[in-house]
Amino acid sequence: MDSERTLTIIKPDGVEQRNVGDIIKKFEESQLRIKAAKMLHLTREQAEGFYAVHRERNFFNDLTRYMSSGPILVLVLEGENAIDRLRDLMGATDPKKAAKGTIRQLYATSIEKNVIHGSDGPVTAKTEIGYFFSALEVL
Ligand code: ATP
Ligand code: MG
Repeated sequence: MDSERTLTIIKPDGVEQRNVGDIIKKFEESQLRIKAAKMLHLTREQAEGFYAVHRERNFFNDLTRYMSSGPILVLVLEGENAIDRLRDLMGATDPKKAAKGTIRQLYATSIEKNVIHGSDGPVTAKTEIGYFFSALEVL
């Protein structure tokens, strides 16, 4: 498997609860390299743009309100099989169903406030990286 890139977001609850350091430690322990990082506080419109695929879902309003409710940390990670490995580190969307030791099992408080986002495939990863970073900003 070749080296691959993925986009991750430490969501407003993760930043607010000061879990950023612990989460980045897990990325690094898992051999994922940080290629870009920035703190942002999304507007509602920017959150709606990012989660546009979910616009028909009944949780879209709550999701975009939450994602624009406070600062987030957005990162590009690189490594072998990075997309699936990050998803494994994150755990299931619903923290009640997340495997022991995963980021969501450890830090998430609900299916909405679930601490972390990770791209779900190579096409999404490329689009999502481009949503936040220019080519010059990714090492
Ligand atoms: P993410 O895309 O953030 O990495 P995911 O891929 O595990 O999460 P998705 O199905 O893409 O899950 O949902 C996107 C986000 O929408 C979830 O991470 C969560 O914050 C929120 N969400 C998903 N399902 C629900 C739900 N039933 N109720 C409330 N919020 C939800
Ligand atoms: Mg998703």
